[in-house]
Amino acid sequence: MSNFDASNPDAEHVQCAVCEKAIKGGQWFARISHGQWLVALCCPLCTEVFEAKPAAYIRRIETLSLLRSPEGPFKQD
Ligand SMILES: [Zn+2]
Repeated sequence: MSNFDASNPDAEHVQCAVCEKAIKGGQWFARISHGQWLVALCCPLCTEVFEAKPAAYIRRIETLSLLRSPEGPFKQD
């Protein structure tokens, strides 16, 4: 299951905001807040990439979350 929200430190896993690798048990390299999001980064390289253009990655995460949520655009009435 996809989870980019790193605001819950007890979450079973969270995905790296850049490479989408699953990070288990709070083993992230860094957490960065941007707007309403607190995202996790798995390594120094991903952190660097994220910080170069955070808005682009946040937007991608928001899109992925929306698509995969029960309230997303593919919900059937
Ligand atoms: Zn990563």
